[in-house]
Amino acid sequence: MKLRIKNILNKPPLGETLTLCGWLRTRRDTGGFSFLELNDGSCLSGLQVIADASLANYDSDIKTLNTGASLQITGELKESPAQGQVVEMHATSVEVVGVSCPDYPLQKKRHSFEFLREMSHLRPRTNALGAVGRVRSRLGYAVHNFFQERDFIFLHTPIITTSDCEGAGEMFQVRTGHEHGSESHFFGHPAGLTVSGQLQAEVYAMALGDVYTFGPTFRAENSNTSRHLAEFWMIEPEMAFCDLQCNMEVAGDMLKYLIADVLEHCVEDMQLFNNFIEKGLLEKLKSVVEKDFVHLPYTEAIELLEKSGRSFDYPVKWGIDMQSEHERYLCEEVFSCPLIVTDYPAAIKPFYMRMNDDGRTVAAMDILVPGIGEIVGGSQREERLKVLEARMKEAGLSLEEYDWYLDLRRYGSAPHSGFGLGFERLVQFVTGMSNIRETIPFPRTPGFAPC
Ligand code: ATP
Ligand code: MN
Repeated sequence: MKLRIKNILNKPPLGETLTLCGWLRTRRDTGGFSFLELNDGSCLSGLQVIADASLANYDSDIKTLNTGASLQITGELKESPAQGQVVEMHATSVEVVGVSCPDYPLQKKRHSFEFLREMSHLRPRTNALGAVGRVRSRLGYAVHNFFQERDFIFLHTPIITTSDCEGAGEMFQVRTGHEHGSESHFFGHPAGLTVSGQLQAEVYAMALGDVYTFGPTFRAENSNTSRHLAEFWMIEPEMAFCDLQCNMEVAGDMLKYLIADVLEHCVEDMQLFNNFIEKGLLEKLKSVVEKDFVHLPYTEAIELLEKSGRSFDYPVKWGIDMQSEHERYLCEEVFSCPLIVTDYPAAIKPFYMRMNDDGRTVAAMDILVPGIGEIVGGSQREERLKVLEARMKEAGLSLEEYDWYLDLRRYGSAPHSGFGLGFERLVQFVTGMSNIRETIPFPRTPGFAPC
């Protein structure tokens, strides 16, 4: 197996001669020596390599290396006399695999994230974006661990879909270059990119019990905010024989599990975010793992907002769809912790959410977190055929088109629940990045999709 810097720093094989590959972060020359900082992406830290003038290509190659060059280095690992680092490598060979030009855009100084967004192809080579890449990977792995440990079945729901998960947002259309008029639809029906895998997940929940999807999701909403993307990844569990209470427990346990997992496994990267991106991040995350989430019915949330004496941009009254300013006020200033808001007005929620006995609210739950607002949206689903049909008619949906969905209520219907966790919003919360565009390798937003 290829040797990587992470393995070496974890358990330095002192005295051994090793070969490593990576990219040059910095080069510093002092009479007859060069200090090369090699980074291979396996961890934040690089390895210091000492190359001296006895190497055959010292003057011809090594002394002319620019930042960004790729190198294969062989040398002996020794204890380092320098402060702040444990080991260093004394090179016996430095092979230049690929040179880099002096105009390499990522020089030592810190660049703004806006500047880096203009070069999605180079930005993962910076400390911060590299760390996001590693933490994102770990979180994805932990998502699967969480569900697999609980015997959930991983389900691939379709990316191309003909059913609009009503209320979730604008759909991108999918068609070939030859479609003209309704006769020629490739799928015999207008199609789009999925805005949620929920409806299909319900199908499998009604067969396999507990399932989850984790896939790309697309929304053509023109929202140029720091928390919306046109393409994002969503984790959507769907559970049979599970009510709203059970749903909230799973969602809370999952968030705690994921956060605890990165705190344990991404120590160095998380320290970087704590130092340079969000002061107090580690404290914030630890308290999320330790404290219970506050539960707050929507009606009480509205009362708190009304009593706050605040003048919000968007006026507060019972029935409004809470905006991010309201959500953030509640979880940042009133409670200073994550909040689960439940029982929203039926009128602002999609048809599939279960009607409460009061006839005007539904068994919905959103999890709001400080700094972002909504991170999870979920509900208990309407399992009663008659009530569901009535809700669909009210929403102006065709019962024929959703016949398959209604079948789930005709044949062995059962209470069931699920939610959607936006993966990038989770990465944003965990890393403290202020803009969601830094949490996905190649962000897609209105007017922007360079590579
Ligand atoms: P918002 O009100 O913030 O636009 P939403 O209520 O439309 O979100 P849901 O349909 O409930 O979102 O989707 C479930 C989750 O998916 C949200 O809680 C959020 O974490 C995430 N999400 C939704 N839209 C986006 C988006 N455009 N970009 C990134 N994540 C998103
Ligand atoms: Mn939502």
